[in-house]
Amino acid sequence: MSLLDKLDAVAATRKALLPEDVEVFGTPVDAVYSSTEAKIGDRRILFLGTNNYLGLTFAPECLQAAHAAIDSEGTGTTGSRMANGSYSGHRALERELADFYRCHSCIVFTTGYQANLATISGLAGAGDVVLIDGDSHASIYDGCRLSGAEIIRFRHNDMVDLEKRLRRLGERSSSTLIIVEGIYSMLGDRAPLADVVKLKNAYNSTLLLDEAHSLGVLGTTGQGLVEETGLIEEVDFITGTFSKSLGGIGGYCVSKHPQLDQLRYVSRPYIFTASPTPATIASTRAALKLLREGSELRRQLWRNVHQLYSRLDELGYDLGPEPSPVIAAILKTPQQALALWKGLLDHGIYVNLVLPPATPEGNSLVRCSVSAVHSSEQLDYVGKAFAELREAISQ
Ligand code: PMP
Repeated sequence: MSLLDKLDAVAATRKALLPEDVEVFGTPVDAVYSSTEAKIGDRRILFLGTNNYLGLTFAPECLQAAHAAIDSEGTGTTGSRMANGSYSGHRALERELADFYRCHSCIVFTTGYQANLATISGLAGAGDVVLIDGDSHASIYDGCRLSGAEIIRFRHNDMVDLEKRLRRLGERSSSTLIIVEGIYSMLGDRAPLADVVKLKNAYNSTLLLDEAHSLGVLGTTGQGLVEETGLIEEVDFITGTFSKSLGGIGGYCVSKHPQLDQLRYVSRPYIFTASPTPATIASTRAALKLLREGSELRRQLWRNVHQLYSRLDELGYDLGPEPSPVIAAILKTPQQALALWKGLLDHGIYVNLVLPPATPEGNSLVRCSVSAVHSSEQLDYVGKAFAELREAISQ
């Protein structure tokens, strides 16, 4: 098969499954009105598929900081962090994140995806082992591939399976990087961090925790699962992103180990790409301040999570195992998931459709993301739409 034939096969698969009258993936958003409302085609829609957990994308403090940074430093750095692209703002944000976690070191990256690629491939290499949860995000899988280390998966959140695999490694467990997520992006469940920590200590391994979806969401000051569980001292490396609760784009790694700084010299995804724009860094710094002080926003977020999760549960939808800002309805077939997704869009509600092979266990998901700034009325309306569509999709 030629290279172009392979792409034709992709088009044929898409055509067989997806309707032609609506762009399911990469749906064009024609205007954005607020953190929760936008325009798709000619209709006003409610955003329920973004990762804007604290609703900070239009926070006046962040907008003002971004405007000021553009005016004073321009639209881009046009260079790598290793060359001309480390402005005082980039370094200040690193200090602020290290201070937030009370950690020794922090590195800021251009995206959360690159934070995982850079950290994993900088830490592990040929001859080492990466031991990852089966539901890990694509950036974790890709970081592992880039590292050249041996990749071993354990069953999602299954500590018996993790221990079995550590035991089998024998002495190699001490050159093993275990990777888990604070809140998993597909089903919204948390890693059993206390048990993971016990195993990593027993087998003398190293632990990386990705807090992409839990930053700003869990813990009194929003550090994530490390704060909720009080286990920050036990986790070796934490990665996260600016593109969810912080409402921007970019990523970071923090660590209690001063060796983290050496990643700057060996990590290709850090060295060979341009650094975040001044506006991105400025809005992220402003958002981090709001996130740290945002206990009322977190309370509102969790009120909203419970309102929607319990409504969908009452309606009989098969949901992820615990309430979280990522609320996934699990459907039996891609066709059912598509019908629900399309039905919601017809009601003016945008959610995420996730189909195999991107999903755990080949399930099809309609994934909602709840924000602190959704109103109770908006979530009521979502509940009504899910209720109306319940019958239609079970046929
Ligand atoms: N880690 C996890 C668990 C994620 O879900 C994501 C994004 N969905 C990333 C990392 C990458 O973050 P970004 O989109 O900011 O590159």
